[in-house]
Amino acid sequence: MNLDFSPQELQFREEVRQWMRENAPPDPAGVKLGIPLDKATQMAWEQRLASKGWLAYTWPKEYGGPGWTVTQRHIFEEERAAAGAPNSGPFGLAMLGPVLMAFGNERQQQRYLPRIAAGTELWCQGYSEPGAGSDLASLKTQARRDGDHYVVNGQKIWTTQAHWADWMFCLVRTHPDVPRQQGISFLLIDMRSPGIEIRPIITIDGHHHLNEVFLTDVRVPVENLVGQEGQGWTIAKYLLTFERTTIAGVADSKYEIGRLKAVAVRHRVDGHALIDEPGVSERIAELEIDLLALEYTNLRALDRLARGKAPGAESSGLKIRGTELQQAISEAMVDLGGQDALPWLSTEPAGDPAFDSATVRYNFLRASSIYGGSNEIQKNVIAKQLLGGGH
Ligand SMILES: Cc1cc2nc3c(=O)[nH]c(=O)nc-3n(C[C@H](O)[C@H](O)[C@H](O)COP(=O)(O)OP(=O)(O)OC[C@H]3O[C@@H](n4cnc5c(N)ncnc54)[C@H](O)[C@@H]3O)c2cc1C
Repeated sequence: MNLDFSPQELQFREEVRQWMRENAPPDPAGVKLGIPLDKATQMAWEQRLASKGWLAYTWPKEYGGPGWTVTQRHIFEEERAAAGAPNSGPFGLAMLGPVLMAFGNERQQQRYLPRIAAGTELWCQGYSEPGAGSDLASLKTQARRDGDHYVVNGQKIWTTQAHWADWMFCLVRTHPDVPRQQGISFLLIDMRSPGIEIRPIITIDGHHHLNEVFLTDVRVPVENLVGQEGQGWTIAKYLLTFERTTIAGVADSKYEIGRLKAVAVRHRVDGHALIDEPGVSERIAELEIDLLALEYTNLRALDRLARGKAPGAESSGLKIRGTELQQAISEAMVDLGGQDALPWLSTEPAGDPAFDSATVRYNFLRASSIYGGSNEIQKNVIAKQLLGGGH
């Protein structure tokens, strides 16, 4: 993309590129191929970034971030993805962080934010329940006040990395008798609390990302309530706009298109390069044009953030287009690989190393149009917020 970068920004890009070259974990970790890292490798990477002051790279200086401009963040993401380095876990950094800055009290900010920025405490997100996904406001996990504690009972599901997390930010029902949105509160729950049971869910890629979390008489100090009782729905929606912007994954899609192009030029079928097969270059060009449009939209959303505003309904548009593009790129990779891309699990070698894990990635990315609120629900959000329709 031909943005006009200032000499300082170009110098900054060089600095980030150089640092990534020297510090990004080696590729055998599987990052580029969509194989999840183990917890120790992921944490070591995040702590290396933290020691440079770059883990909480979207945060202002006063909360332990580098205080970068929108352009610097954009450059950083591009260089991180281009180096094939893993994305940092989003739950503390991209979701809870902004919520605590906006709704947390000073004690909460001082207790939690520095450890997120240092990469020493991991978080998970306890929103979804078996009966509450798209219709999140129907959640049933109950928090009953008992002196200076809440007693929490219920079940969460699809909880990414609950098995890694030290803490869970959790939506609970504190008031069963009021209109349902008004009865929800936002609690911070220590995952080592007695009464928490975590059961794994293995996804189609053969990996353990997800869990069920059962809460039985879990005692949570009242001081772990963020905002006011009953303010949970407002906080949850605020957090979701940040989550959706993160999911768009523009820098990573750019990296993936680069990989697709390289493979198409390098890989040979019937004596000629794949790129010379009918329709292949057109297909890649279409993806690239879509990516360019998405990149501009993403920059507009980042600009809004830079002006101190939370992302609005455009975060839903970004989520839809960003995930559609991720899916389209992974589909193109599988199509181009043909039989070389057949292995279903990342432990099986593909016919050509270029197509290792193409199907694994394709399979896992089916979920991207579901998590963070399904794409159908994003269309409802856009209809309500931008077109003024609905209820
Ligand atoms: C890989 C992965 C990771 C996840 N990680 C987390 C996590 O860490 N924490 C967490 O809390 N949750 C997590 N989730 C859960 C995710 O947020 C939910 O799956 C999602 O919100 C959809 O809810 P549901 O699965 O209950 O589907 P349902 O709500 O049952 O929806 C089923 C289908 O119906 C459609 N639909 C439903 N209502 C409407 C409507 N009103 N209009 C149009 N279409 C509609 C949906 O779009 C979908 O296609 C994760 C999910 C996945 C797949």
